[in-house]
Amino acid sequence: MTDIAENALRVIQSHPDGVLQSELWKELEIDSRKCSRVVKALLDDEKIDRVEYRKEGQRTYLLKAKKTAVNPALLIAGGALLPCICCEEECEVLACPLLLDWMYQLAIEGYQKQ
Ligand code: SF4
Repeated sequence: MTDIAENALRVIQSHPDGVLQSELWKELEIDSRKCSRVVKALLDDEKIDRVEYRKEGQRTYLLKAKKTAVNPALLIAGGALLPCICCEEECEVLACPLLLDWMYQLAIEGYQKQ
């Protein structure tokens, strides 16, 4: 995937309700023809969905990122499931000992694989 395609995908993913193609090329600071080619590549790679959309009488497309399944193995470290799943604690991410312990396990596993 090209840098422009990766940037386009990031922009599209950052808009959960979708982004109009007529706005995407402006945000990427590329021309509309280049944007069309990038969008086609993302469609061919099945990274996004596109539906026709009319804005002020002009036809454009609403682009939405496809949701991909999370690899469950990425949610386990040191044999423990990511503590945020089913957590009922008052959440303070930056000061959470449960999450910190889990992240230590993740770092240890990463170090052991090297
Ligand atoms: S960061 Fe801590 S408190 Fe917040 S959801 Fe995760 S485990 Fe629960």
